[in-house]
Amino acid sequence: MSISPRKQTQQVLVGDVKVGGGAPIVVQSMTNTDTADIASTVQQIIELSMAGSELVRVTVNTEEAAKAVPEIRNQLDQKGFSVPIVGDFHFNGHKLLEKYPACAEALSKFRINPGNVGRGKNRDPQFQQMIEFACRYDKPVRIGVNGGSLDQSVLTRLLDENRKKANPQELPAITREAIVLSALESAAKAQEYGLGKDKIILSCKISNVQELISIYQDISERCDYALHLGLTEAGMGSKGIVSSSAALAVLMQQGIGDTIRISLTPEPGTARTKEVVVAQELLQTMGFRSFTPLVIACPGCGRTTSDYFQRLAQDIQAYLRDQMPIWKNKYHGVEEMEVAVMGCVVNGPGESKNANIGISLPGTGESPVAPVYEDGVKTVTLKGDKIAEEFQVLVEKYIES
Ligand code: SF4
Repeated sequence: MSISPRKQTQQVLVGDVKVGGGAPIVVQSMTNTDTADIASTVQQIIELSMAGSELVRVTVNTEEAAKAVPEIRNQLDQKGFSVPIVGDFHFNGHKLLEKYPACAEALSKFRINPGNVGRGKNRDPQFQQMIEFACRYDKPVRIGVNGGSLDQSVLTRLLDENRKKANPQELPAITREAIVLSALESAAKAQEYGLGKDKIILSCKISNVQELISIYQDISERCDYALHLGLTEAGMGSKGIVSSSAALAVLMQQGIGDTIRISLTPEPGTARTKEVVVAQELLQTMGFRSFTPLVIACPGCGRTTSDYFQRLAQDIQAYLRDQMPIWKNKYHGVEEMEVAVMGCVVNGPGESKNANIGISLPGTGESPVAPVYEDGVKTVTLKGDKIAEEFQVLVEKYIES
Protein backbone atom coordinates (compact mmCIF):
# COMPACT_ATOMS: atom_id res chain seq x y z
CA MET A 1 0.00 0.00 0.00
CA SER A 2 1.69 3.22 -1.08
CA ILE A 3 1.39 6.32 1.06
CA SER A 4 -1.72 8.46 0.51
CA PRO A 5 -1.74 12.25 0.66
CA ARG A 6 -2.67 13.58 4.10
CA LYS A 7 -6.40 14.17 4.44
CA GLN A 8 -7.04 17.93 4.56
CA THR A 9 -8.63 18.68 7.91
CA GLN A 10 -9.60 21.87 9.67
CA GLN A 11 -6.56 23.19 11.53
CA VAL A 12 -6.85 23.70 15.30
CA LEU A 13 -4.41 25.71 17.40
CA VAL A 14 -3.71 24.14 20.81
CA GLY A 15 -1.64 26.73 22.64
CA ASP A 16 0.91 27.40 19.91
CA VAL A 17 0.81 23.86 18.48
CA LYS A 18 -0.92 23.40 15.13
CA VAL A 19 -3.03 20.25 14.81
CA GLY A 20 -4.41 19.28 11.40
CA GLY A 21 -4.68 21.27 8.20
CA GLY A 22 -1.44 19.77 6.88
CA ALA A 23 0.63 20.48 10.00
CA PRO A 24 3.12 17.75 10.98
CA ILE A 25 1.48 14.92 12.96
CA VAL A 26 1.67 15.95 16.62
CA VAL A 27 2.92 13.62 19.38
CA GLN A 28 1.04 13.76 22.66
CA SER A 29 0.94 11.90 25.93
CA MET A 30 -0.73 11.94 29.33
CA THR A 31 0.58 12.07 32.88
CA ASN A 32 -0.23 9.33 35.39
CA THR A 33 0.45 11.42 38.48
CA ASP A 34 -2.24 12.73 40.82
CA THR A 35 -2.75 16.21 39.30
CA ALA A 36 -3.29 17.61 42.81
CA ASP A 37 0.33 16.63 43.54
CA ILE A 38 1.81 19.69 41.87
CA ALA A 39 5.50 18.79 42.24
CA SER A 40 5.13 15.28 40.79
CA THR A 41 2.90 16.46 37.95
CA VAL A 42 5.22 19.31 36.97
CA GLN A 43 8.17 16.91 37.05
CA GLN A 44 6.42 14.36 34.82
CA ILE A 45 5.22 17.00 32.35
CA ILE A 46 8.81 18.23 32.07
CA GLU A 47 10.05 14.67 31.46
CA LEU A 48 7.39 14.05 28.82
CA SER A 49 8.07 17.39 27.18
CA MET A 50 11.83 16.79 27.11
CA ALA A 51 11.22 13.35 25.59
CA GLY A 52 9.29 15.08 22.79
CA SER A 53 5.65 15.20 23.81
CA GLU A 54 4.22 18.28 22.13
CA LEU A 55 0.97 18.29 24.14
CA VAL A 56 0.52 16.80 27.61
CA ARG A 57 -2.87 15.86 29.04
CA VAL A 58 -3.57 15.77 32.75
CA THR A 59 -6.65 14.44 34.46
CA VAL A 60 -8.81 17.12 36.10
CA ASN A 61 -11.04 14.95 38.21
CA THR A 62 -11.36 16.72 41.57
CA GLU A 63 -11.49 20.21 43.04
CA GLU A 64 -7.90 19.73 44.28
CA ALA A 65 -6.78 18.86 40.75
CA ALA A 66 -8.59 21.89 39.28
CA LYS A 67 -7.00 24.14 41.91
CA ALA A 68 -3.55 22.72 41.12
CA VAL A 69 -3.67 23.34 37.35
CA PRO A 70 -2.87 27.12 37.39
CA GLU A 71 0.13 26.53 39.67
CA ILE A 72 1.33 23.66 37.44
CA ARG A 73 1.16 26.02 34.43
CA ASN A 74 2.91 28.73 36.41
CA GLN A 75 5.79 26.48 37.49
CA LEU A 76 6.23 25.10 33.97
CA ASP A 77 6.42 28.65 32.58
CA GLN A 78 8.95 29.65 35.21
CA LYS A 79 11.12 26.68 34.29
CA GLY A 80 10.87 27.56 30.59
CA PHE A 81 8.50 24.77 29.48
CA SER A 82 5.74 26.09 27.28
CA VAL A 83 4.22 22.69 26.39
CA PRO A 84 0.41 23.10 26.26
CA ILE A 85 -1.54 21.30 28.99
CA VAL A 86 -4.81 19.60 28.09
CA GLY A 87 -7.43 19.00 30.80
CA ASP A 88 -9.15 15.60 30.77
CA PHE A 89 -12.69 15.98 32.15
CA HIS A 90 -15.26 13.34 33.00
CA PHE A 91 -18.56 13.57 34.91
CA ASN A 92 -17.90 16.82 36.81
CA GLY A 93 -16.05 19.00 34.27
CA HIS A 94 -18.90 21.50 34.01
CA LYS A 95 -18.79 22.09 37.78
CA LEU A 96 -15.00 22.32 37.99
CA LEU A 97 -14.73 24.78 35.10
CA GLU A 98 -17.46 26.93 36.63
CA LYS A 99 -15.90 26.99 40.08
CA TYR A 100 -12.25 27.33 38.97
CA PRO A 101 -11.95 29.83 36.11
CA ALA A 102 -8.17 29.98 36.63
CA CYS A 103 -8.03 26.28 35.76
CA ALA A 104 -9.96 26.93 32.55
CA GLU A 105 -7.58 29.78 31.71
CA ALA A 106 -4.44 27.75 32.37
CA LEU A 107 -5.45 24.84 30.14
CA SER A 108 -4.84 24.93 26.40
CA LYS A 109 -7.57 22.45 25.51
CA PHE A 110 -10.42 20.60 27.17
CA ARG A 111 -11.02 16.92 26.50
CA ILE A 112 -14.70 16.00 26.80
CA ASN A 113 -15.95 12.42 26.66
CA PRO A 114 -19.57 12.56 25.41
CA GLY A 115 -20.26 9.28 27.24
CA ASN A 116 -19.28 10.82 30.57
CA VAL A 117 -20.98 14.23 30.67
CA GLY A 118 -24.06 13.41 32.66
CA ARG A 119 -26.77 10.85 32.25
CA GLY A 120 -30.28 11.11 30.79
CA LYS A 121 -31.73 14.61 30.79
CA ASN A 122 -28.54 16.03 32.36
CA ARG A 123 -26.39 15.00 29.44
CA ASP A 124 -27.15 17.77 26.97
CA PRO A 125 -27.18 20.69 29.46
CA GLN A 126 -23.85 19.58 30.93
CA PHE A 127 -22.28 19.11 27.51
CA GLN A 128 -23.60 22.54 26.52
CA GLN A 129 -22.09 24.06 29.67
CA MET A 130 -18.68 22.55 28.87
CA ILE A 131 -18.84 23.96 25.34
CA GLU A 132 -19.87 27.38 26.64
CA PHE A 133 -16.82 27.38 28.91
CA ALA A 134 -14.66 26.51 25.92
CA CYS A 135 -16.19 29.45 24.00
CA ARG A 136 -15.84 31.82 26.97
CA TYR A 137 -12.15 31.00 27.48
CA ASP A 138 -11.46 30.60 23.76
CA LYS A 139 -10.17 27.03 24.13
CA PRO A 140 -10.30 24.17 21.67
CA VAL A 141 -11.99 20.94 22.66
CA ARG A 142 -11.29 17.32 21.87
CA ILE A 143 -14.49 15.37 21.72
CA GLY A 144 -13.01 12.05 22.73
CA VAL A 145 -15.34 9.07 22.35
CA ASN A 146 -14.12 5.87 23.96
CA GLY A 147 -15.49 2.39 23.30
CA GLY A 148 -15.44 1.65 27.03
CA SER A 149 -17.61 4.63 27.94
CA LEU A 150 -19.75 5.00 24.83
CA ASP A 151 -22.80 7.24 25.13
CA GLN A 152 -25.45 4.55 25.65
CA SER A 153 -28.26 6.76 24.35
CA VAL A 154 -26.71 6.73 20.86
CA LEU A 155 -26.20 2.97 20.97
CA THR A 156 -29.73 2.33 22.25
CA ARG A 157 -31.20 4.54 19.53
CA LEU A 158 -29.28 2.69 16.82
CA LEU A 159 -30.24 -0.69 18.23
CA ASP A 160 -33.89 0.40 18.29
CA GLU A 161 -33.70 1.65 14.73
CA ASN A 162 -32.16 -1.65 13.61
CA ARG A 163 -34.19 -3.91 15.87
CA LYS A 164 -35.81 -5.85 13.04
CA LYS A 165 -32.69 -6.56 11.08
CA ALA A 166 -30.08 -6.69 13.86
CA ASN A 167 -28.56 -10.06 14.56
CA PRO A 168 -25.59 -10.92 16.76
CA GLN A 169 -23.19 -10.67 13.78
CA GLU A 170 -24.29 -7.11 13.09
CA LEU A 171 -23.85 -5.83 16.62
CA PRO A 172 -20.16 -4.86 16.28
CA ALA A 173 -21.04 -2.83 13.17
CA ILE A 174 -23.77 -1.03 15.12
CA THR A 175 -21.35 -0.33 17.96
CA ARG A 176 -18.82 1.10 15.51
CA GLU A 177 -21.50 3.29 13.98
CA ALA A 178 -22.58 4.43 17.46
CA ILE A 179 -18.99 5.46 18.25
CA VAL A 180 -18.69 7.47 15.04
CA LEU A 181 -22.15 9.00 15.42
CA SER A 182 -21.48 9.96 19.05
CA ALA A 183 -18.44 11.96 17.90
CA LEU A 184 -20.11 13.54 14.86
CA GLU A 185 -23.36 14.43 16.61
CA SER A 186 -21.46 15.88 19.60
CA ALA A 187 -19.32 17.96 17.25
CA ALA A 188 -22.43 19.24 15.46
CA LYS A 189 -23.96 20.19 18.82
CA ALA A 190 -20.75 21.91 19.91
CA GLN A 191 -20.92 24.04 16.77
CA GLU A 192 -24.61 24.73 17.43
CA TYR A 193 -23.62 25.93 20.93
CA GLY A 194 -21.16 28.37 19.41
CA LEU A 195 -17.81 26.56 19.16
CA GLY A 196 -16.01 27.14 15.87
CA LYS A 197 -15.02 24.22 13.70
CA ASP A 198 -11.42 25.37 14.14
CA LYS A 199 -11.75 24.55 17.84
CA ILE A 200 -12.84 20.93 17.49
CA ILE A 201 -10.70 17.79 17.38
CA LEU A 202 -12.32 14.35 17.35
CA SER A 203 -11.16 10.95 18.52
CA CYS A 204 -12.89 7.56 18.58
CA LYS A 205 -10.74 5.20 20.58
CA ILE A 206 -11.32 1.49 20.96
CA SER A 207 -9.02 -1.37 21.95
CA ASN A 208 -9.42 -3.63 18.90
CA VAL A 209 -6.98 -2.90 16.06
CA GLN A 210 -9.19 -3.83 13.10
CA GLU A 211 -12.23 -2.05 14.53
CA LEU A 212 -10.18 1.06 15.27
CA ILE A 213 -8.95 1.17 11.67
CA SER A 214 -12.48 0.73 10.35
CA ILE A 215 -13.90 3.45 12.66
CA TYR A 216 -11.28 6.04 11.71
CA GLN A 217 -11.57 5.27 7.99
CA ASP A 218 -15.30 5.86 8.35
CA ILE A 219 -15.14 9.08 10.35
CA SER A 220 -12.39 10.47 8.14
CA GLU A 221 -14.69 10.06 5.13
CA ARG A 222 -17.63 11.67 6.87
CA CYS A 223 -16.02 14.86 8.20
CA ASP A 224 -12.99 17.09 8.01
CA TYR A 225 -12.49 17.75 11.70
CA ALA A 226 -8.88 17.28 12.88
CA LEU A 227 -8.46 13.72 14.17
CA HIS A 228 -6.56 12.43 17.18
CA LEU A 229 -5.51 8.78 16.82
CA GLY A 230 -4.94 6.31 19.58
CA LEU A 231 -5.62 2.69 20.39
CA THR A 232 -7.07 2.71 23.87
CA GLU A 233 -6.05 0.12 26.47
CA ALA A 234 -3.30 -1.04 24.11
CA GLY A 235 -1.65 -2.94 26.94
CA MET A 236 1.83 -3.53 28.24
CA GLY A 237 5.23 -3.98 26.66
CA SER A 238 5.58 -5.34 23.15
CA LYS A 239 1.84 -6.08 22.84
CA GLY A 240 0.96 -2.43 23.47
CA ILE A 241 3.65 -1.18 21.10
CA VAL A 242 2.82 -3.62 18.31
CA SER A 243 -0.96 -3.19 18.44
CA SER A 244 -0.79 0.62 18.58
CA SER A 245 1.81 0.78 15.82
CA ALA A 246 -0.14 -1.61 13.60
CA ALA A 247 -3.36 0.37 13.89
CA LEU A 248 -1.87 3.85 13.65
CA ALA A 249 0.54 2.94 10.85
CA VAL A 250 -2.28 1.71 8.60
CA LEU A 251 -4.31 4.87 9.22
CA MET A 252 -1.43 7.29 8.75
CA GLN A 253 -0.40 5.47 5.58
CA GLN A 254 -3.91 6.27 4.32
CA GLY A 255 -3.44 9.96 5.17
CA ILE A 256 -5.61 9.79 8.31
CA GLY A 257 -4.60 11.37 11.62
CA ASP A 258 -3.34 14.75 12.79
CA THR A 259 -2.07 13.87 16.27
CA ILE A 260 -1.26 10.56 17.95
CA ARG A 261 -0.85 9.05 21.37
CA ILE A 262 0.59 5.61 22.04
CA SER A 263 -1.19 4.55 25.23
CA LEU A 264 1.10 2.10 26.97
CA THR A 265 0.40 0.54 30.34
CA PRO A 266 3.64 1.34 32.17
CA GLU A 267 5.59 -1.73 33.21
CA PRO A 268 7.28 -1.56 36.60
CA GLY A 269 10.57 0.24 36.18
CA THR A 270 9.66 1.66 32.76
CA ALA A 271 9.60 5.43 32.34
CA ARG A 272 6.34 7.11 31.33
CA THR A 273 8.32 8.70 28.51
CA LYS A 274 8.49 5.35 26.70
CA GLU A 275 5.16 6.07 24.97
CA VAL A 276 6.58 9.30 23.58
CA VAL A 277 9.68 7.53 22.26
CA VAL A 278 7.51 4.87 20.59
CA ALA A 279 5.27 7.53 18.99
CA GLN A 280 8.30 9.40 17.66
CA GLU A 281 9.93 6.24 16.34
CA LEU A 282 6.70 5.23 14.62
CA LEU A 283 6.45 8.59 12.87
CA GLN A 284 10.14 8.64 11.99
CA THR A 285 10.44 5.09 10.70
CA MET A 286 7.38 5.74 8.49
CA GLY A 287 9.02 8.88 7.14
CA PHE A 288 6.45 11.38 8.45
CA ARG A 289 8.73 13.27 10.81
CA SER A 290 12.30 13.24 12.11
CA PHE A 291 13.08 13.67 15.79
CA THR A 292 16.45 12.12 16.55
CA PRO A 293 19.26 10.37 14.64
CA LEU A 294 18.33 6.70 14.34
CA VAL A 295 20.72 3.82 14.87
CA ILE A 296 20.60 1.00 12.33
CA ALA A 297 21.80 -2.18 13.99
CA CYS A 298 21.79 -5.78 12.80
CA PRO A 299 20.08 -8.38 15.01
CA GLY A 300 23.32 -10.26 15.64
CA CYS A 301 23.83 -13.98 15.05
CA GLY A 302 26.38 -16.74 15.58
CA ARG A 303 28.99 -14.61 13.83
CA THR A 304 28.98 -12.05 16.66
CA THR A 305 31.43 -12.86 19.41
CA SER A 306 29.51 -11.22 22.27
CA ASP A 307 26.74 -8.72 22.97
CA TYR A 308 29.39 -6.00 22.61
CA PHE A 309 27.89 -4.54 19.46
CA GLN A 310 24.31 -4.57 20.82
CA ARG A 311 25.53 -2.60 23.85
CA LEU A 312 27.37 -0.20 21.57
CA ALA A 313 24.22 0.31 19.46
CA GLN A 314 22.12 0.86 22.59
CA ASP A 315 24.62 3.29 24.13
CA ILE A 316 24.92 5.29 20.91
CA GLN A 317 21.11 5.51 20.51
CA ALA A 318 20.69 6.62 24.14
CA TYR A 319 23.49 9.16 23.73
CA LEU A 320 21.99 10.59 20.51
CA ARG A 321 18.53 10.88 22.09
CA ASP A 322 19.93 12.54 25.23
CA GLN A 323 21.81 15.11 23.17
CA MET A 324 18.87 16.10 20.97
CA PRO A 325 17.47 18.87 23.20
CA ILE A 326 20.84 20.64 22.80
CA TRP A 327 21.56 19.63 19.22
CA LYS A 328 18.23 20.34 17.61
CA ASN A 329 18.72 24.10 17.60
CA LYS A 330 22.46 23.86 17.00
CA TYR A 331 22.88 21.45 14.11
CA HIS A 332 20.44 21.78 11.22
CA GLY A 333 19.08 18.43 10.02
CA VAL A 334 20.86 16.35 12.68
CA GLU A 335 17.58 14.54 13.45
CA GLU A 336 17.61 13.00 9.96
CA MET A 337 20.98 11.33 10.48
CA GLU A 338 21.49 7.57 10.44
CA VAL A 339 24.20 5.78 12.40
CA ALA A 340 24.92 2.11 11.61
CA VAL A 341 26.32 -0.30 14.18
CA MET A 342 26.82 -3.70 12.56
CA GLY A 343 27.99 -7.01 14.02
CA CYS A 344 30.31 -8.31 11.28
CA VAL A 345 31.61 -7.98 7.74
CA VAL A 346 28.62 -9.75 6.08
CA ASN A 347 26.32 -6.71 5.98
CA GLY A 348 28.44 -4.32 8.01
CA PRO A 349 30.29 -2.40 5.29
CA GLY A 350 27.18 -2.11 3.09
CA GLU A 351 24.91 -0.73 5.81
CA SER A 352 27.70 1.43 7.21
CA LYS A 353 28.29 3.00 3.80
CA ASN A 354 24.57 3.77 3.42
CA ALA A 355 24.42 5.51 6.80
CA ASN A 356 25.88 8.94 7.54
CA ILE A 357 28.39 7.25 9.81
CA GLY A 358 28.70 3.55 10.51
CA ILE A 359 30.93 0.94 12.06
CA SER A 360 31.36 -2.72 11.15
CA LEU A 361 32.54 -4.57 14.23
CA PRO A 362 34.64 -7.74 13.98
CA GLY A 363 32.69 -11.00 14.01
CA THR A 364 34.04 -14.45 14.91
CA GLY A 365 37.06 -15.39 12.84
CA GLU A 366 37.55 -11.86 11.52
CA SER A 367 40.63 -9.82 12.27
CA PRO A 368 39.99 -7.67 15.37
CA VAL A 369 39.48 -4.42 13.51
CA ALA A 370 36.42 -2.25 13.01
CA PRO A 371 36.31 -0.07 9.89
CA VAL A 372 34.36 3.18 10.19
CA TYR A 373 32.61 4.76 7.20
CA GLU A 374 31.55 8.38 6.92
CA ASP A 375 29.30 9.42 4.04
CA GLY A 376 30.04 6.13 2.30
CA VAL A 377 33.82 6.37 2.57
CA LYS A 378 36.05 4.36 4.89
CA THR A 379 37.82 6.94 7.07
CA VAL A 380 39.50 5.00 9.85
CA THR A 381 39.86 1.51 11.29
CA LEU A 382 39.46 1.15 15.05
CA LYS A 383 41.30 -1.54 17.03
CA GLY A 384 41.73 -2.60 20.64
CA ASP A 385 39.40 -2.49 23.61
CA LYS A 386 38.33 1.15 23.31
CA ILE A 387 36.40 0.82 20.04
CA ALA A 388 33.07 1.88 21.61
CA GLU A 389 34.47 5.04 23.21
CA GLU A 390 36.43 5.97 20.09
CA PHE A 391 33.41 5.46 17.83
CA GLN A 392 31.28 7.69 20.06
CA VAL A 393 33.89 10.45 19.74
CA LEU A 394 33.83 10.02 15.95
CA VAL A 395 30.01 10.31 15.93
CA GLU A 396 30.22 13.54 17.96
CA LYS A 397 32.88 14.95 15.61
CA TYR A 398 30.80 13.99 12.58
CA ILE A 399 27.78 15.82 13.97
CA GLU A 400 29.82 18.89 14.87
CA SER A 401 31.30 19.01 11.39
FE1 SF4 B 1 25.09 -11.68 11.79
FE2 SF4 B 1 26.92 -10.19 10.61
FE3 SF4 B 1 24.36 -10.16 9.70
FE4 SF4 B 1 24.96 -8.99 12.03
S1 SF4 B 1 25.74 -8.38 9.98
S2 SF4 B 1 23.27 -10.39 11.64
S3 SF4 B 1 26.56 -10.33 12.81
S4 SF4 B 1 25.81 -11.89 9.66
